[in-house]
Amino acid sequence: MTTRSTELLRVVHHRPGVTRADAARLLGVGTGAATELVTKLSRASLLVQAPAAPSGSRGRPTTVLLPHPEGPLVLAVAITHEAWRIDVVELGGATAATRSGRHAATGWDEVRAAVAAAIAEIISRYGDRPRAVGVSVPGTVSRTLRLDASTAGWHDVDLTELWPHAGVFVAGNDATLAATAESHRGAAANASVAVHLRIEAGLGGAVVENGRPVIGARGAAGEFGHMPFGDPSIRCPCGASGCWGTAVDGTALARFLGEPAPRDPVTYARRVIAAAAPGSTEMIAVRSVAAALGRGVAGLVNGLDADLVTLGGLGVDLLAAAPDAIEEAYRDGLMLIHRDSPPPVLPAALGDEEGPIAGAAEQAWTALLPHLT
Ligand SMILES: [Zn+2]
Repeated sequence: MTTRSTELLRVVHHRPGVTRADAARLLGVGTGAATELVTKLSRASLLVQAPAAPSGSRGRPTTVLLPHPEGPLVLAVAITHEAWRIDVVELGGATAATRSGRHAATGWDEVRAAVAAAIAEIISRYGDRPRAVGVSVPGTVSRTLRLDASTAGWHDVDLTELWPHAGVFVAGNDATLAATAESHRGAAANASVAVHLRIEAGLGGAVVENGRPVIGARGAAGEFGHMPFGDPSIRCPCGASGCWGTAVDGTALARFLGEPAPRDPVTYARRVIAAAAPGSTEMIAVRSVAAALGRGVAGLVNGLDADLVTLGGLGVDLLAAAPDAIEEAYRDGLMLIHRDSPPPVLPAALGDEEGPIAGAAEQAWTALLPHLT
């Protein structure tokens, strides 16, 4: 079919239930042409038309456009160090089914076997409706879909083995996909340049420009935690010294409190933040880490001229526990040109579990739509 058919599907994907008249306006076509496109896409089992709920006003009845109940599906897969989850996602973003499992501290072969078996089971249930897969992983993904996740010990693994016969296969880093989702359906919707930062065992994220993440030449962009905004006397596991990530995570809190480096820095950080009563040493540690976060955010805003910055992971906890410490350091680090209306620093609207898998679904739909029409 045509590019206009793809555009119409994209409109229904972003606004399921859009009226046929609004869809025609968004596409810039007349009602006759819109009716023709809708008829074509209905016959191809991609859309259905339904009468809109009565609005109470008189006039001609309105028709809304919805995903076809037997239409194509994408599989959104999120793999973390501890667990995996697959969402079966309809056009429009609704989840039709979910599968999940846990795999703490196992090799890639075991993870691959579990996820591939679940995908095979989904395909046996949904037949030829699943047409694309998007995979979120805790590492970097090359252009040839090979994953390197050093903390999990997964090196140069071939992600396409999860579903070798997939029609469309896309994959990306979890923080990058969370950033993409935030720009499509979250707090950064409609931003021209958005920065998303996620603090966990390290600090990662992505710059998203007009809905598209900057992924870098090797798929390794967004390693903001390794910019030298930290204490130059601290050596980072990445091999550099003075990395920002070492100043804003659980290890920074432990150092401040004179405790040994925690085995699980995320759980440790949450415990310290929860214990940070006003005036306590924990609160002093939390405020110093929050200030290090705010200073670095200012650096990113100065460098990228972002519309806004969203925070995920421990960033949300720090924003709740010490908002003034973040704000003060942030404003202090901003260039004068940004100070009249500083780009907001907000918690991400999608949670830490939802962001990466929602981003994987969006990326899969973006890649699939042109193939459907
Ligand atoms: Zn580093």
